[in-house]
Amino acid sequence: MKKETFVTKEQLEEIVKKYPTPFHLYDEKGIRENAKAVKEAFAWNPGFREYFAVKATPNPFLLNILKEYDFGLDCSSYTELMLADAVGMTGEYIMFSANDVPAEEFSYADKLGAIINLDDFTHIDFLEKTIGHIPETISCRYNPGGVFTMSNGIMDNPGDSKYGFTREQLFEGFRVLKEKGAKYFGVHAFLASNTVTNEYYPKLARQLFELVVELKEQTGCEIRFVNLSGGVGIPYRPEETPNDIRAIGAGVKEAFDEVLVPAGLSDVAIYCEMGRFMLGPYGCLVTSAIHEKHTYKEYVGVDACAANLMRPAVYRAYHHITVMGKEDAPCDHKYDIVGSLCENCDKFAIDRMLPEIEKGDLLVIHDTGAHGFSMGYNYNGRLRSAELLLKEDGSVQLIRRAETPADYFATFDCFDIIKDLK
Ligand SMILES: *Cc1c(COP(=O)(O)O)cnc(C)c1O
Repeated sequence: MKKETFVTKEQLEEIVKKYPTPFHLYDEKGIRENAKAVKEAFAWNPGFREYFAVKATPNPFLLNILKEYDFGLDCSSYTELMLADAVGMTGEYIMFSANDVPAEEFSYADKLGAIINLDDFTHIDFLEKTIGHIPETISCRYNPGGVFTMSNGIMDNPGDSKYGFTREQLFEGFRVLKEKGAKYFGVHAFLASNTVTNEYYPKLARQLFELVVELKEQTGCEIRFVNLSGGVGIPYRPEETPNDIRAIGAGVKEAFDEVLVPAGLSDVAIYCEMGRFMLGPYGCLVTSAIHEKHTYKEYVGVDACAANLMRPAVYRAYHHITVMGKEDAPCDHKYDIVGSLCENCDKFAIDRMLPEIEKGDLLVIHDTGAHGFSMGYNYNGRLRSAELLLKEDGSVQLIRRAETPADYFATFDCFDIIKDLK
């Protein structure tokens, strides 16, 4: 499928007059249409809820849009809980799905009434000691071990991942939790990442539904929800076919009808914690070409760098690039598109065939709406960019300002040595 930008060259030329590149831009219209489609795909399940994975895009303006669709938030750290609290999410609207959890995070999650999703058997005692009781509603993360066959190279090997209870631990965990006073249970699993196939959720769901039937039979626990977590992917590459969330929802329903309904478990709610699928395609990184370099290869230097988007540098992930205004020009130049970090992995594209790029051209790096800005860092003293929202009416709203040197130096503010830098 041809990858198109959700913003035009003319719109971008207006935007850059006010907000200099680089910046991440989000598409309100696309976000809303997709959120609606997710709701519709699972409307057959009355208890359905998407808990957006905050780590993907921790911006309160965007979280507030998702909140309008009655979504909750999936948090895994203290500051993510703060963000949930700040946008008015509490109680069952927060899923706390963390691993290696510090005590104060369990306390805060409990204070907010969040649903706690335990990552490990030993966390049962740790939680009880930390908050003084076991919550009425509790969830456990399951790791079946082995390999999950629909693989894409990022996380396809549960047996090798640090997350979750083994099968035996899960059964024992449910018994222990019930003894300690838990009344309502949930099961969670995240077995593969960025799956660009409609088969992942249905396959995972069937596996978890079968597990839940056994858990119910063997432990007598009342199971309220099955959390399919994240992992629904997006087509980063033009040759990939986008997932059809309606087909995914129908596939999960089929497994539900075949496994849960006959077992008398038709009240079980389906939860998910999609991050990438919810926002990935509805964000892009906009950057300007500022240098060209001709050595052993052809380089174009842009004003963004891996500190603004680290996926290409770290995972060698593909992000499509559109040279604005040259959408229909022949891709007859082979470039490395590079950022400024003093690290040779700081390349947004390697040997990419693109139209001829001139200094000043605006480049749109696609699909940065999730795990884009949020993975940013400050290496080389590079500053985080602004985040902008392209609203449905075509106007643009600043939803996070760009960092300034004062932000970068703020953590030295208790030291005299920094006084000249403020
Ligand atoms: C990262 C994460 C998600 C979101 O994953 P996506 O691939 O963005 O859908 C959901 N749940 C948990 C526990 C996670 O760690």
